[in-house]
Amino acid sequence: MKNQHIDTLCVQAGHSPRSGEPRVLPVVQSTTFKYDTCEAMGRLFDLEAAGHFYSRLANPTCDTVAAKIAALEGGVAAMLTSSGQAASFFSLFNICGAGDHIVSAGPIYGGTFNLFNVTMKKMGIEFTFVDPDADVAVLEQAFRPNTKAVFAESLSNPRGVVLDIEKFAALAHNQKVPLIIDNTFPTPINCRPFEWGADIVIHSTTKYMDGHATSVGGALVDSGNFDWSLYPDKFPGLCRPDPSYHGLVYTERFGKGAYITKAVAQLMRDLGASPAPLNAFLLNLGLETLHLRMRRHSDNALAVAEYLENHPRVAWINYCGLPSSKYYELGKKYLPNGASGVIAFGVKGGREASVAFMDRLTLGAIVTHVADARTSLLHPASSTHRQLSEAELIEAGVSQDLVRLSVGIEHVGDIVADLEKALLTMDN
Ligand SMILES: *Cc1c(COP(=O)(O)O)cnc(C)c1O
Repeated sequence: MKNQHIDTLCVQAGHSPRSGEPRVLPVVQSTTFKYDTCEAMGRLFDLEAAGHFYSRLANPTCDTVAAKIAALEGGVAAMLTSSGQAASFFSLFNICGAGDHIVSAGPIYGGTFNLFNVTMKKMGIEFTFVDPDADVAVLEQAFRPNTKAVFAESLSNPRGVVLDIEKFAALAHNQKVPLIIDNTFPTPINCRPFEWGADIVIHSTTKYMDGHATSVGGALVDSGNFDWSLYPDKFPGLCRPDPSYHGLVYTERFGKGAYITKAVAQLMRDLGASPAPLNAFLLNLGLETLHLRMRRHSDNALAVAEYLENHPRVAWINYCGLPSSKYYELGKKYLPNGASGVIAFGVKGGREASVAFMDRLTLGAIVTHVADARTSLLHPASSTHRQLSEAELIEAGVSQDLVRLSVGIEHVGDIVADLEKALLTMDN
């Protein structure tokens, strides 16, 4: 499948039926798998043989969809999780523990910020949040001897900060740690983080990948490029014997598959954030049209952004597809196929005006969700980022008047007409 275009991978990767098997991915709605002998099943429990025994750890439907996502990102291995939150947590907890430290970009999804700043902090893991636009010399000061990874979003939710992935990869690698990228907003159609040096990619598949707002889910993908075995003292979990598998060493036994195998064998086994096979099936339906939808989302959003930028009632706008955006040049480099459908802007008059504008829309709906086929809006300061303090809001780059507009794949004329009606009636 290596030489095929990404459009073809969206439709066909992962599932290769043999003669007489179903062309469409079957839903294996079974928690359990039968073996002829205790010996055969025992080999699976020792990770000596590949196969399925219990759907908390792995399931054929989920594995097939994970393989498609690995192909789309150009990675060597992938796994699905029950949510994007689980994917973010696993991506770090697979290589860190109490007493460790992570460097994270400041402008990230509010849920991820809470996961890091509240829950993982309680587990004894420290975070330093950095401004991704800062100079390398400043960013280097964030690192400590116990730093285990750098985490950032390729295109941040909700503000639309485009990450200089090459800069961040060099920074992480100089410090001998991997770069983990949350590639949810661009999807591999618009951004390929591994081609710029990222080591691990995670997704909230809930967003564009599913695309229809049916299923919460996540994914982790390993590029296979980070050589953990060079730093056994930094990554003992991957490079030293695992007593819960009779002293097996992941990097020795699984090579480039070590990171994902460990995440399945340990984290899924113990924490059980497993996706449902039916959700994986629905995710796969979304992936089959991802290439078509991302183009339409990006085209519609650019047209809507141009309209908003020129509107007298719009105070400011950030969409990296606009030449006026601070992130236009980075967007051209890292998002060559389009900047996806999410626009951040403010209505003149501050928080009240932005909220009043949103309440007047009819085609666009106020929902927590983002990045699905239907045009959606959210006021982050009063919803996803509501628990953040004033200072944390500033750190996350979320102003009080920020409207997150997720442009859908309806006809762009109808989307603009809806915005126009709401903006024109503002004073009435
Ligand atoms: C939504 C989102 C998440 C969390 O994913 P869930 O599927 O909601 O758990 C993580 N990162 C980004 C960028 C998101 O937009």
